[in-house]
Amino acid sequence: MAEPNDTDSSTRALELLKSRYGFDQFRFQQAHIVQTLIDGGDAMVLMPTGGGKSICYQIPAMIRDGVGIVISPLIALMQDQVDALNTMGIRASYINSSQSSSVRREVEQKMLNAELDLVYVAPERLNTTEFIQLLERTTIALFAIDEAHCVSQWGHDFRSDYLQLRLLHETFPRVPRIALTATADKRTREEIVQQLGLQSARVFIHSFDRPNIFYRLSEGQNNRERLWQFVQQHHAGDAGIVYCLSRKQVEAVADWLSRKGRTALPYHAGLDSTQRALNQQRFLAEDGVIIVATIAFGMGIDKPDVRFVAHLTLPKTIEAYYQETGRAGRDGLTANAWLAYGLQDVISLRQMNQQSEANETFKRSLHQKLEAMLGLCEQITCRRQTLLAYFGESLPQACGFCDNCIEPPHTWDATEAARKALSCVYRTGQRFGVNYVIDVLTGKPHERILRNHHDAISTWNIGNDLSVNQWRSLFRQLLVYGYLESDIDQYGGLKLTPRAKPLLRGEESLSLREMTAARKKSRSEKNKANLEVVDQPLFDALRALRKSLADENSVPPFVIFHDKTLREMVAEQPHDLAGMAQINGVGEQKLDRFGAAFLSVIATHRAELEQQSLISS
Ligand code: ADP
Ligand code: ZN
Repeated sequence: MAEPNDTDSSTRALELLKSRYGFDQFRFQQAHIVQTLIDGGDAMVLMPTGGGKSICYQIPAMIRDGVGIVISPLIALMQDQVDALNTMGIRASYINSSQSSSVRREVEQKMLNAELDLVYVAPERLNTTEFIQLLERTTIALFAIDEAHCVSQWGHDFRSDYLQLRLLHETFPRVPRIALTATADKRTREEIVQQLGLQSARVFIHSFDRPNIFYRLSEGQNNRERLWQFVQQHHAGDAGIVYCLSRKQVEAVADWLSRKGRTALPYHAGLDSTQRALNQQRFLAEDGVIIVATIAFGMGIDKPDVRFVAHLTLPKTIEAYYQETGRAGRDGLTANAWLAYGLQDVISLRQMNQQSEANETFKRSLHQKLEAMLGLCEQITCRRQTLLAYFGESLPQACGFCDNCIEPPHTWDATEAARKALSCVYRTGQRFGVNYVIDVLTGKPHERILRNHHDAISTWNIGNDLSVNQWRSLFRQLLVYGYLESDIDQYGGLKLTPRAKPLLRGEESLSLREMTAARKKSRSEKNKANLEVVDQPLFDALRALRKSLADENSVPPFVIFHDKTLREMVAEQPHDLAGMAQINGVGEQKLDRFGAAFLSVIATHRAELEQQSLISS
């Protein structure tokens, strides 16, 4: 076959985008990436979650001769991914250890016969001679290396099998490769390029901004109760993820949300794998499920309508925070990223880093990353600007869609209080934890204090102008800003750092964030964070139809249509198949299979409305 020229292939790519996916236009750099691969070049793609990475290799795999081989570590998701593609009329399959050998042989035969456009495989499969021999007999359209950051030891999901992927290029030098990831700081990127030998690949870095995500980060107490307030107010029927620090906390929070009446399922490494898979499956398949999880959950979770991601624990790095919150709102509709943390989180994360077995350089980098995360929590200006700056992008103006933008935090002159706090730490000998020091400041004459004669020092009982909670907030911020550190050899006793000196001597002043928990929620946030639905009954009816079609076809509902597509149906209310074809997300195959059913629900709904208006007029 002759090489297609650019215009032909780009027309063909657009046709496929419309007929298979039901989309009118490529987004961002998709068209360029697709073209690069069609032309046989390599690409390295950095796009946030939800940016639309998969189309970048799926369409070239359909256009180029042969089968596109997709390497993905997420075996549990392959079935769903393949189902979704088949539903759109794309010839895809997968090979992994969950299959019987006869099923696998069938897929292999189809590969050899060029009856497939895409085959998903796990990285370890490429290390077997058997599979390489199969590939040698197959016409390969391209290699797509998904979650490419797994090749980096500096990154957070390192997998040794990924290191072998470099050999692909040596064995199949003429097959174009595309490496994709949603999470990589500069250093991880460099490592991907180097490890995979992608030096001559075109690099596509898409903006990391996720404009539909509203960020709120706050410290305080009773975080579980605050979580409930948030979920109840903004996400009564929505799907979401709640991240916790430990398995124990996961179990407790899931249990608690369930008792409040929500479907909340735990997910952590301590559950047996069947239970985990089942919970993940329910999260994908049912509407409005909350998954309560440790960070083990989420990589590659392809659910477009996750409406909120909540953290009851402090992520260790901004990368982790951004990746986890990035699982919200992949459909582009408004979603919330909500984080609540406390003093103890700051102390335990710092200690974990200090105690880690890693070498000094690595520890220092952990430390810097954590400090950057804390900086984000404590800052009083636009969150998005800071987040994007962290990934090397600049946002010239404040975003207007984060907590600090819509309700600028109140600050107060904390110089005097900080001096009292620091000097009390000093006078009690830099051996005690936060609670003890606060007890001295507020004059609680308990036995230990009396025994230590700390009721006789100059900082005894000088702190009654602030509440205990305010003192805790102050101490946390003094820790975050590095005026104090907690000494692990001293069981978490607080110590002054060199930074404390100028403040104590009165050479510096300190302005701090007021505790957020005390402030009221503004109305604009509420409005913005709630999703607008023009006609709820119709939306519900379409959702119900979607659910029954999903069950019938044994796929998750979003494989049938995304929320966004249903909303567009509500807004447009098409009369016929031609009108239906205009809705985003309705491709030819889906139009054939589901178009009529959805049209009939819309028609019934319209008839009912007319009926009602006749009666009431
Ligand atoms: P990623 O793998 O980058 O997280 P996906 O490939 O799953 O993202 O795409 C995210 C969502 O965006 C999907 O719902 C997908 O259908 C949608 N999408 C991708 N490309 C386009 C496009 N060109 N137009 C409209 N929607 C798109
Ligand atoms: Zn902002």
